[in-house]
Amino acid sequence: MSTPRDLNICSNILETIGNTPMVRINAITRGATDATVLVKLETFNPGNSIKDRMAVRMIEDAEKSGALKPGGTIIEGTSGNTGMGLAIAAVVKGYRCIFTTTDKQSKEKIDALKAFGAEVIVCPTDVDPEDPRSYYSVSSRLEREIPNAWKANQYDNLSNTAAHYEQTAPEIWKQTDGKVTHLVVGVGTGGTVSGVGRYLKERNPRIKVWGIDTYGSVFKKYKETGIFDKNEIYPYVTEGIGEDFLPKNVDFSIIDHFEKVTDKDAAVMTRRLAREEGIFAGNSAGSAMAGVLQLREHFTRDDIVVVIFHDHGSRYLGKMYNDEWMRAKGFLEVTGMTARDLVAGRVGRAVCRGVQPSHRGGRADHERSRLLADFNHQSGARRRVAQRGAPVRPVRA
Ligand code: PMP
Repeated sequence: MSTPRDLNICSNILETIGNTPMVRINAITRGATDATVLVKLETFNPGNSIKDRMAVRMIEDAEKSGALKPGGTIIEGTSGNTGMGLAIAAVVKGYRCIFTTTDKQSKEKIDALKAFGAEVIVCPTDVDPEDPRSYYSVSSRLEREIPNAWKANQYDNLSNTAAHYEQTAPEIWKQTDGKVTHLVVGVGTGGTVSGVGRYLKERNPRIKVWGIDTYGSVFKKYKETGIFDKNEIYPYVTEGIGEDFLPKNVDFSIIDHFEKVTDKDAAVMTRRLAREEGIFAGNSAGSAMAGVLQLREHFTRDDIVVVIFHDHGSRYLGKMYNDEWMRAKGFLEVTGMTARDLVAGRVGRAVCRGVQPSHRGGRADHERSRLLADFNHQSGARRRVAQRGAPVRPVRA
């Protein structure tokens, strides 16, 4: 048989990493900006996230340096996606994996790590990174105590940035034919924004690199003032982006601006991506897309904005894609109208923002429109409040 490469067959799953598609956003940007907005869909990687790229790169660099030896144990504090990449690579390369994560993370993410045979230790979110119970501290202790263990340390391991400089960025350059004008990326460890941003700026210094941050994270204030302000830190819901410390992989000199997006706006936009674009992406994709709309006045019709979508929606089925969870967080005002509400005349209570009269016609639609019109007439003030959205408050995870 010919070599797998000749037949376009991968010799193992790791060879399927990268070369992800780029897709144009249509409905969500219509009427908001004339710029072309393209999303790099990293969900197509085998672990369904961009982190597969840097996980393999970190392991291969550690193998080369001798830090990771055959039969060794990979330790990492991970919110799931890096763990998934490491776990997949560990299966193929024969390593054991132990991950520490926080109680804020989706259960789906943790179960997915276990599917690959990884051991997962869940630690409290609401403690300082230096606290011995934090997921950073626990993973460092495990590295010290387990023989032949290597901690990947995605935050400070610069192989993370290198993976994106060498793989993700050249793909974006090629896919846009070098015409990209803006890069918009959620920032966590900083590997993606720093690696991709540096490569693009080396080719065209006029390219703007915008990092998406969360309320509750230190990045934006640090970039704008040089002050690491602990008062900026509080628990938030958005997953994968924002931090309460400064990882070495965040190269602040590459990032032109940080834009903060609320938990609610990120969650609502995550759902819109599925419903309006057919793109089933994770929470940080929603945050990045909401950030693009917040920044829309800075774009012209000639701009080509590339947004990176880090991970897949399936990891958020219990959260942003779950109506109960969304309501409990106060992120979802749409409750829909049940038959019981109609019979009991509770239309005002049941119908909220997002439910629009149908234009398809028909008796049921007509009746629904009439009820909506009545409701809207009776409670215009309340409806206007709903349309503005609830005031932004820090949400405890
Ligand atoms: N989105 C998700 C879902 C992530 O898991 C991460 C990594 N923490 C990011 C965005 C941010 O990517 P980076 O760590 O490369 O800054």
